[in-house]
Parts: sequence; structure tokens; C-alpha cells
Amino acid sequence: MTIDVNIINGNLFTSDGFRYGGISIDGNKIVKIGKEPSLPKASLKINAKGALIIPGLIDIHVHFRDLEQKYKETMETGSRSAISGGVTTVLDMPNNKPPTNTAIRLQNKRKIIQGKAAANIGFHSLVPEKVDEIIPIAKEGIFGYKIYPASLIYPPKNNEKLQLFLRQIAEVELPLVIHPDNGYAAENEKRLIENDRPYIEAFLKAHNQVDEGKALNDFIDLNKQTNAHLHCAHVTAKETIEVLQKNKNQNNLSSEVCAHHLLLTTDDLKKLKAQAKCLPPVRTGDDQAYLWKALNEEIIKIVATDHAPHSYNEKHCEFESAAAGIHGLETLLPLMFTAAAKGKITFEKLIPTLTTNPAKLMKIEKRGELKEGYFADIVIVAKEKGKINAVNFESKAKWTPFDGNEILYTPKYVFVNGFMSKEEDYVVTKARAGKILQKKNKIPKETLADED
Ligand SMILES: [Zn+2]
Repeated sequence: MTIDVNIINGNLFTSDGFRYGGISIDGNKIVKIGKEPSLPKASLKINAKGALIIPGLIDIHVHFRDLEQKYKETMETGSRSAISGGVTTVLDMPNNKPPTNTAIRLQNKRKIIQGKAAANIGFHSLVPEKVDEIIPIAKEGIFGYKIYPASLIYPPKNNEKLQLFLRQIAEVELPLVIHPDNGYAAENEKRLIENDRPYIEAFLKAHNQVDEGKALNDFIDLNKQTNAHLHCAHVTAKETIEVLQKNKNQNNLSSEVCAHHLLLTTDDLKKLKAQAKCLPPVRTGDDQAYLWKALNEEIIKIVATDHAPHSYNEKHCEFESAAAGIHGLETLLPLMFTAAAKGKITFEKLIPTLTTNPAKLMKIEKRGELKEGYFADIVIVAKEKGKINAVNFESKAKWTPFDGNEILYTPKYVFVNGFMSKEEDYVVTKARAGKILQKKNKIPKETLADED
């Protein structure tokens, strides 16, 4: 029997750490891991020449826009951007226009990307307007509910109502993904600018570190009786880390940090202005040191992009009118691996934050590890000096605050479900190997009984 592909002579990252060897792919699965003589015969052989062979990255926080915001990104261009960056699975956020907060809108998003996804794609839903919509949405196979306290599309403004949502979310055993911020941040921003404060300062003050920590703490307090799983998106501040530290023994609390918060500070923001504008904002060097420490001590176990593409005009204008959000998918791996090479974290600690840990948290089955029987989502990463070059991005957003940054690692080959979707630096034009992921969520019995 001849199988499809053997990748040989690599430095494989498995659950036991790095080991020299090869990996065999047949159909959409990994069929064998071992040294070359023990691998089955294959029709294609790739010599990794000592490069790293790692599981495809899993990014649980991306914004693929589409719908009425196609000019920023579509699920198709976003998924190609993912592949280009070595990210084989993403979870797409629901703050779309119109917002993804009903079962029908989720079905519609799946329809749009059907047959066109370059990467595997799953969805989060917004917390819906009514509690009784939680279960129909869970049945659509989502991975989490997202809540934005500082936004108009955040429905429950009172705690009692919020607890009803938390109770129902706990029932379906899905995480509530929190964007930690003050519910009045937008109003505060306006007031502070009117008081003559320079805009960047007003922006930082309106979305400040104390409010971020407090927002998470308030959710934890509110959740004491309901016991839903809380996942804190994009942690940026020392204050938030202190809350996580205090609650580190709770198994229904998790968090993520974004690459740009690990790599940019307010000093960079003052220089890069609109390009580095994002929410939550980048913080001080002191906060950043806490983020690295929390990642190294596994207080934070996941690194995400918060890939948030915007159009040219929205990112090339005055800071005050610029859209908040940064391209992330094509810089995540090169920047984080370069940071690891420079000693910020070990590769053994970093790689799980980008693969196994997000898979475990979001219960993405048979992905995030190089293991026989798992889906063949595999990246070959070459140690090779280069530069971030935004004009080459597959995303519609061909700008980044990291443009021109020196990098030491590049994802060269990317396999998704066994299909070679990036080859020698080039994303395969017809790559459509991504799957739409629908999770089998737990639906409470009484609801099932109502159905015919
Ligand atoms: Zn986001």
C-alpha cells in the first residue's frame, strides 16, 4: 500500500517535545510518526531538512467580517490569510454587520463559506437578545458566546438578566468569551476628548487597565452561582493578570493574550498611531512584562491574534478617526517564534499555547497535536531570516504595525486535512481544504424531548 505523503528529516513537535523524524499523511489523517525506515511508502516525499514540523496553529479569535463588511475581509480571504500564516483552524467572531446572534444568521455564515474555506473555520455567536435563543444557537455547533460590555450590541445591561444567560450558557457547557472593558468606555472616551485631552491619551484612559481587571472580576462574581466557563479574551493589563492569578485554581476560567500586546507598548502606539490602534489598547512596558511572565507561568495558556482587518482608509488616517484593530494571522507565527528565539519563552512552552491549549479549551477534536489518527493539519517552519512584508499578505488588510520587522522563522509548507495548501512560501491558489467545524454541543434533555 502506498500512502500520500511522507515528510522526513524534521524536528517534530509532539506531546513529548521535539524529536527528530518524519510524519506520514494519508487522506486527511496522520497515519504514522517515526524515523524514515519505519514510515510506509508514499507517492510524495518532502525533505524538511531539519526544519520544525509542528501542528497547524489554532486561533480562537479572528474577525473575518464578510456580509456587509466584505471591503475589509471575507471569510475566503481571511481563511487564505490564515493558511499563509500557518494557522489551519480559526474561530470567527460574531460582531458582524448584521451581528451573528441567531441560529439563522449562523446558518447563513456557513452557507457563505461552504466549499470556499482554505482553513478550518468554526464560529462564535454573540450573546443573543433573549435567553431562550441560547439553545437553538448551541445546536448550530458554535464554540462559544461572545459578550462586549462596552458595546451597543451587548444586550443584558443588568446583572439579574445576565445571570439568566450565564445559567443557560452553563447548561450547554460552552464558554462565555468576555471582552473585558467598562460598559461606559465609549461615553468616557468622548467626555475625555471634550476636556481637551490629546486623543491617544483619552483613548488609553477611557479603556484603562483598572477597568479591564474590574470587568473580569465582576463577571467572576456574577458567575459564582451559575458556574459557566468564562474565557477572558485579549488580556493586556497587570490588573487582569492579578484577577486570573487569584482565581487560578478555578477550572471554569481561562484566558488568552494577543501577540500585539506582547510585542507593542504605548511608546510604539505614539509612533505608529492609527496602525497600532486596537481594543483593548497596547499597554505600558510594565504591563507587557507581566503578560510575558503570566504566559511563562501558564497563568495565561493561549496566544491568539484578534485578527481584525480594516480597509486602507480606515488605517491610514488621523488616530481619532482610525478603526481599532490589527491584522494578525500572517504575523503571529513569525513574530512569536522570533520572540522565542530571542529568549522570551521556550518553544516547548510557546507551541502548545498556539495549538494544543486552544484545541483543548474549545474542544476542537483531533486537531492541535501531531498524533497518529489526528487530522493532518501540519506546518513546516523554516529557520530563515526575513522581514514582515505586508504587501504580500493574502488578507485584504495589507498593513500592519510590524511591517518591516525582522523575523527569524517562516511557515513554508502548510497542510490542512492532508491537503498541501501552502508550498514553498506560496499559498496554493485553489486551496479549499478547510472544513466548517460544528461542535456537538450538549443540549439539555427537556429541550430534546420537545422535538419530534
Ligand atoms: Zn476581537
